[in-house]
Amino acid sequence: MSVITTERHGDVLVIISNNPPVNALGAAVRQGLDAGIKEALADDAVKAVVIRCDGRTFFAGADITEFTKPPVPPMLPEVVNTIEACTKPVVAAIHGTALGGGLETALGCHYRIAVPSAKLGVPEVKLGLLPGAGGTQRLPRIAGIEAAVEMCATGTPIPAARALAIGLVDRLAGEDSLADEAIAFAREMIASGPRPSRAQPVKGDPAAIPAFAEANARRFKGFDAPAANIACVEAATRLPFDEGIAFEQQEFMKLMFGAQSAAQRHIFFAERQAGKIDGIGDDVKPRPIRKVGMIGAGTMGGGISMNFLSAGIPVTIVEQEQAALDRGVGVIRKNYEATAAKGRLKPEQVEAAMGLLTPTLKLEDLADCDLVIEAIFENMDVKKDVFSRLDKIAKPGAILASNTSYLNIDEIAAVTGRAQDVLGMHFFSPANVMKLLEVVRGAKTAPDVLLTAMGVAKTIGKVAVVAGVCDGFIGNRMLMPRQVEAMKLLMEGATPAQVDKVHTDFGMPMGPFQMSDLAGVDIGWHRDPTRIENVRDALCAVGRWGQKTGKGFYDYDDKRRPSPSAEVQAIIEDFAAKTGAVKRAISDEEIVERTLYPMVNEGALILAEGMAQRASDIDVVWVYGYGWPVYRGGPMFWADLEGSDKIVAGLEKHGFKVAPLLKEKAETKGRFNR
Ligand code: NAD
Repeated sequence: MSVITTERHGDVLVIISNNPPVNALGAAVRQGLDAGIKEALADDAVKAVVIRCDGRTFFAGADITEFTKPPVPPMLPEVVNTIEACTKPVVAAIHGTALGGGLETALGCHYRIAVPSAKLGVPEVKLGLLPGAGGTQRLPRIAGIEAAVEMCATGTPIPAARALAIGLVDRLAGEDSLADEAIAFAREMIASGPRPSRAQPVKGDPAAIPAFAEANARRFKGFDAPAANIACVEAATRLPFDEGIAFEQQEFMKLMFGAQSAAQRHIFFAERQAGKIDGIGDDVKPRPIRKVGMIGAGTMGGGISMNFLSAGIPVTIVEQEQAALDRGVGVIRKNYEATAAKGRLKPEQVEAAMGLLTPTLKLEDLADCDLVIEAIFENMDVKKDVFSRLDKIAKPGAILASNTSYLNIDEIAAVTGRAQDVLGMHFFSPANVMKLLEVVRGAKTAPDVLLTAMGVAKTIGKVAVVAGVCDGFIGNRMLMPRQVEAMKLLMEGATPAQVDKVHTDFGMPMGPFQMSDLAGVDIGWHRDPTRIENVRDALCAVGRWGQKTGKGFYDYDDKRRPSPSAEVQAIIEDFAAKTGAVKRAISDEEIVERTLYPMVNEGALILAEGMAQRASDIDVVWVYGYGWPVYRGGPMFWADLEGSDKIVAGLEKHGFKVAPLLKEKAETKGRFNR
């Protein structure tokens, strides 16, 4: 059956799309729409047209699987033009989401009617693109400049009520009577005739555009697409329609063939790919998770618990002492209340989440949990002790997970009599915010346990990646060579601020030293102030533990603003003198070669050892766990852009041992991603 059918209702022709799951605007749909309009034009008895969709939504966008294939005509801009040029009024009947090309199709129609639950938007910017079927030119005419610039540059959809208020839709229909009301609306509009969007004057004040750009400068920093979207809306305010469309096309092509959109599309697909687990058949079914146990109510335990509470899953949280328990529960409440104060949660939602939390001092209270996550101190003996006790308490079939950052999951599993039920679930700080979850597959982890953990991640809105057991798994393992080199660079004459700036200019949210100060310079420190073997020991010995003590690699004022520290510089120079390092000027290029290239090198080792299933998983880890700029697609995607040969040459220049897989890529001109 064709994806597009037509129905006659008296003098109204209804064009219906049925292209599950989301009525994507693939070639067959575009051809069908074109044919539908031609059918309406050819029949004198047809006086008006309705375009609507069956299934759960109006056209929710382009068919992204077509992105990499040769174009099949008619292309969407032509189809939108054909609809707009129809000499009989055309009404779009919108339910679900009218997104991207879907909204542009609706803008080609002369009138729009929507159900109250509908959402309308142009999310192309999120893939580094812009709505290239006239969206940037028609939106300012129909929705007004202010809404158009915001919708195009942020990609955030708006609800039907707001669309009605700004004129993007003409009226609302009942949730269950859209089809009939759309026909009635079309019939009413016969007398008014067509109302092509292109013929409407642009609405609103062009001054809203620079004001918007300025207000959002930080949010858009580093990204090309928001500026291109803004430029197109701005063009609409001064150019005739056809010239505006030509400008939009030109900007679209620049983005489409640019590196940023390629990176953003790569991450879009990589995120979906990450959920697929090698070697697990369809016959494997996940275990039900109805109740979660949390051991430790510290930084991570609290944040991890919030994920489950927010998803409506009860959590029993265990601490050693009442004071720590009260503090942990207090922090969870405070975090929820802060969100509520910003209007993003209702007070009753805060109480509902808190009502699902059971604080306790008894590990025995975890007996009925389906999943227990441990987030106590990072110490093997302490973890082993807890897991062996837990083994005697947890019910058969319960999944036992550790949030360890570096420790060996197999060693932890070995103290239990159920290694098949043990794995790592490594969250990132702040755990209620960061999207990444590394799911660490132990040597004996059962397939259904792994599958369950991946499913749990989805339930709580995380992006999960499977990692193997190795020191630091994927993310932290790649952090280590970066940190080692960053410290060496200080000895040789670079400053913390210079190294950090290279990273923030690259697009990272912070550099290695800012990260140390945030996480705690004292993490992993031996805690003996008399034993000073390196700069880190020296900083810790004088209480420079990072932001929490007001000083680390930087000095912090009472608003936590960093400034370079003379004390730190003196310590660095003292050590440099002791090691006999010769101080010299370090170029930014050298910092890139010595801190970013080694990460790629480590990534190649991780991949070759099978600790990551695929290169794109490593990219997902860095984008969602550490804020690697999405427009650079993650370290392995970036390596492909930069060129493996260039990276190998850079590494060799500085005396690194190059990973065989990286070398092979360089020699064969191969790529890590596709
Ligand atoms: P934390 O010191 O903030 O919290 C640990 C909590 O565990 C403390 O409140 C402590 O009282 C409690 N605890 C210790 N032993 C216990 C026991 N036997 N029973 C019950 N409670 C016990 O530490 P954190 O930063 O939350 O780290 C916890 C774990 O998460 C560590 O393994 C760490 O490596 C890992 N991790 C930390 C981060 C991070 O950025 N902080 C990120 C990822 C993973």
